[in-house]
Amino acid sequence: MTLFEDLGINQELLNTIEKLKFEKPTDIQEQSIPLIMDNKDVIGESATGSGKTLAFGAGIIKKVEPKKGIQSLILTPTRELALQVSEALKVFSERKLKIVTVYGGVGIDKQIFDLRKADVVVATPGRLLDHLQRRTIDLSRIKVLVLDEADRMLDMGFIDDVERIISQCPRERQTLFFSATISAQIRSLADRFMNNPMKVSAKKQVDPSKLKQVYYDISKNQKLSLLVYLLKNESSGLVMVFCRTRSNTDFVVKNLCANDVEAIAIHGGLSQNKRTKTIQSFNDGKTHVLVCTDVAARGLHIENVSHVYNYDVPGDPKDYVHRIGRTARAGEKGKVVNLLSNADFDNFSRIMTDYREFTITKMDIPHLPKIIVKRTEERRDGGRGRGGGYGRGRSSGYNQGRRGNSYRGRTEHRSNDSGRSSGPRSYGRSNDSGERRDSSSSGSYGDRKPSGNFNKRSGSSRGQGRGGNRGSNSGRSQSRNSYY
Ligand code: AMP
Repeated sequence: MTLFEDLGINQELLNTIEKLKFEKPTDIQEQSIPLIMDNKDVIGESATGSGKTLAFGAGIIKKVEPKKGIQSLILTPTRELALQVSEALKVFSERKLKIVTVYGGVGIDKQIFDLRKADVVVATPGRLLDHLQRRTIDLSRIKVLVLDEADRMLDMGFIDDVERIISQCPRERQTLFFSATISAQIRSLADRFMNNPMKVSAKKQVDPSKLKQVYYDISKNQKLSLLVYLLKNESSGLVMVFCRTRSNTDFVVKNLCANDVEAIAIHGGLSQNKRTKTIQSFNDGKTHVLVCTDVAARGLHIENVSHVYNYDVPGDPKDYVHRIGRTARAGEKGKVVNLLSNADFDNFSRIMTDYREFTITKMDIPHLPKIIVKRTEERRDGGRGRGGGYGRGRSSGYNQGRRGNSYRGRTEHRSNDSGRSSGPRSYGRSNDSGERRDSSSSGSYGDRKPSGNFNKRSGSSRGQGRGGNRGSNSGRSQSRNSYY
């Protein structure tokens, strides 16, 4: 068994690790720390929760000297991850290093003040660029540059920002990339900005034998009823419910609460303070159901999730893998429940094509009692959002869902996490919190047949408001409360 003592970590950090009661290095730590301590550039393939912060933290703590300017920069895709990394580094360094977190959506003045004394900066790309433009940050002394969750950063359209930031760091430096997946884009970035990088890959955290994946083929207007039913009837620990948009997240959380399922939401439209409190409440087990978007959940360290519900199937199969990776960790059992309506089937087929090893079992729909439905402001337009397919009678068959792709190619001004507008980008990248747009199902999906237990639905009565639900989707005008 490899011990922390075998990895080349300095004595001070070893003492801290002992205090933290970490018994042995995780897989990614075991593989990457010796290389990092040997000053090598490293690409680490590792998921959220793998212990990567300590891996790059060990290198930072070794090299950074207090009060000698900013010597290390860590870029993260989201504010939550930036805060989380900062907190971890403060603990690992026993607060001997001045670690400053820089992200958008909050005032800049305090950051400007704090940056003057920073030894290490953890930042989201948009706000960091703001500081560079204002000349309130000096990157000329960077010795260790880290890209955390690099794949997500690039998925969110931060590539240009990241390149601009890296180009402002000194050439003579150590560069570390950590990423759940190593895409061609990451390899290209590594080719241009890393020096002979060593690649290491951590074992998957999820135990597939402990993970059960199921799906329900259900009309869109019954999804909520089914979700409420399952949450009330399945015994579960902590539950994450994933939605593709903020408005759906709000809609779902509001309606779970209206139906006596205590739930909290996290998405990029909420204030930082609210997001931090929400995560705390969920982690402490005070609220058992967290409804979230992919990006908001990304990078958050959340243990003991027993059930992952996909209220909406993600447009990118990689997001599905990230979502299911939240459960069945460390030998625990986990369940993934997909609620599929017409608009989800193309995305679901794509997942089944990309990940043929998955077995996802079809479940029968139980008898669903009526529930209370409260509309959110945005959904009174029929809730169509950009995902399409909410209104009764819109759909006439399976192909209907694909019409959503007609949004492809639209452009709009993107504003990033600092609220800075950076010109037109293709639709479907990121919005003011860097969240993926719900049109991420772009790209035409052909007639590939999915595999596994999943059978693609044939065109039929989808979305025709089966069950004659009173006050259903079309009743979007007056009544705020109705029953499904
Ligand atoms: P990270 O992937 O860096 O966010 O780490 C995930 C969690 O694992 C954090 O709560 C760390 O404090 C914890 N952790 C990191 N390394 C170890 C280890 N070797 N043993 C136990 N827990 C660890």
